[in-house]
Amino acid sequence: MSTVQPVRVVVAGGGTAGWIAATAIVRQLGSLVDVTLVESDAIGTVGVGEATIPTARSFHELLKIDEAAFMAATGATYKLGILFENWGALDDRYLHSFGTFDLKTWAADFHHFWLEGRSRGIVGPVGSYCVEHEAALAGRFSREMSYAYHLDASRYAAFLRQIAERDGAKRLEGQILEVERHSETGDISALLLDNGARVEGDLFVDCTGFRGLLIEQTLQSGFEDWGEWLSTDTAIAVQTDDTAGLPPYTRAIAHEAGWQWRIPLQHRMGNGIVFSSQDMDEDRAREILLCSISGKTQSEPRPIRYRTGKRREAWKANCVALGLSAGFVEPLESTSIHLIMIGVTRLIQMFPFQGSTASVRERWNALADEELERIRDFIILHYKLTERSDSSFWRRCNSMAVPDSLRFRIESFSEAAQAWQGAGDLFRVESWVQVMLGQRLEPKGWHRLGKLMGDDRLASELERARQHIAARIGKMPDHRSSIRNAIRIINDGGRVSRMAP
Ligand code: FAD
Repeated sequence: MSTVQPVRVVVAGGGTAGWIAATAIVRQLGSLVDVTLVESDAIGTVGVGEATIPTARSFHELLKIDEAAFMAATGATYKLGILFENWGALDDRYLHSFGTFDLKTWAADFHHFWLEGRSRGIVGPVGSYCVEHEAALAGRFSREMSYAYHLDASRYAAFLRQIAERDGAKRLEGQILEVERHSETGDISALLLDNGARVEGDLFVDCTGFRGLLIEQTLQSGFEDWGEWLSTDTAIAVQTDDTAGLPPYTRAIAHEAGWQWRIPLQHRMGNGIVFSSQDMDEDRAREILLCSISGKTQSEPRPIRYRTGKRREAWKANCVALGLSAGFVEPLESTSIHLIMIGVTRLIQMFPFQGSTASVRERWNALADEELERIRDFIILHYKLTERSDSSFWRRCNSMAVPDSLRFRIESFSEAAQAWQGAGDLFRVESWVQVMLGQRLEPKGWHRLGKLMGDDRLASELERARQHIAARIGKMPDHRSSIRNAIRIINDGGRVSRMAP
């Protein structure tokens, strides 16, 4: 093994993004890097961000993070999808599950056969052919399914910190007052802290949240605003001690000018409301939120203002922005933590051992931009495809012009039920289909392969799939027992023993 000078990586910020970045980099690159994280307890973190998608699980596997230890330490629950209420129309409900449909051929996806069957009146609801969908509604769980987690954000950062520090990352407490740059290259050379410390580095990871202390306030990357399509700009979050139901899904309940979330954890419920301040004032939003939560509040309702969009260059000079400093698309499909994870994964794959060259930056930025734009489209879809016209907010949403990339997808599904997952797309065909149908987009036509099957054959194949799903779910434990089994709670006089990561 040859010895090389380690690359000095400075992570600015210790929220979810900072600790994910520090943990992944130090765990994967070991002695090739020297990682220092700077955070300020006085400033604190955004304190939300508690629902994930299944890529979180793959990311933990890459980093060899023990699932049971993670779940015990963060009060995590399993998540099989998101239940959308009042979106396509008032009183509508559909579940966007993380599952796939088993019945398909290379020429036509499942939904084409299902649409054919529906036109003949011989099928059940589309979700009944997906095991994750049915298990979610039945409150059952098995690790054989495609799943994600709900987690306590502050406990998650603390959990990752433990791993990162054990693997060799250093943590410095202090407020960054100044960012020093090389006079010739313009690269960042050091962070100056309020306690007099000067933290030098070769690569800086900006995880300072919405303020983007390095990427924006110092390097002036610029911001591309997407508010014309996604006009919510404020959230109010509050935690309650409600642990009664524990469903294995997030709830996203639309209201007159946005929506509300409910994220069940083992020890509490995360609640929040997202709204457009153009259409609703803060007092009204707070009132809607507080009237619809259950349990005692554990925190003061806290408003959070945000701007939807992205940095023009999330990697600029020798600084890579991850998390809220890189951009933000509202949390409707729980995609931000995923973007941090995939961002740091790509950073490790393209790690700038030879310096932050233009080519590596260009490629990393192109991949990050593409993925975020596709996610943006998927979120806009929920607002655009609605029949709601009961408020100025919804009327504006359903009449707005959408990005061409999304317009094309909507047209393709509407005309011929075509849906796809392109290279670089996070969401699978099944996700597009569940949301488009759930939001009441009715295709005029579909692939005719199903027409080669008579009613008996089509009905029996579909029914067999449903019975198979029902049999699987019948053998699954309920969600609460699954968590209990997973974390092997040791009931020690009522105390939960937490395991080390
Ligand atoms: P922050 O948590 O803001 O952390 C910033 C860090 O920088 C802190 O440690 C702070 O102390 C430090 N810092 C800042 N300035 C300085 C300074 N001058 N000196 C030293 N330190 C400094 N994502 C999901 O995936 N799922 C969700 O369900 C979800 N829900 C969300 C709901 C809302 C309302 C919002 C706004 C976001 C949500 N997100 C969600 C996004 C998610 O919260 C963030 O992606 C995630 O928390 C990462 O935040 P961060 O670490 O980038 O920023």
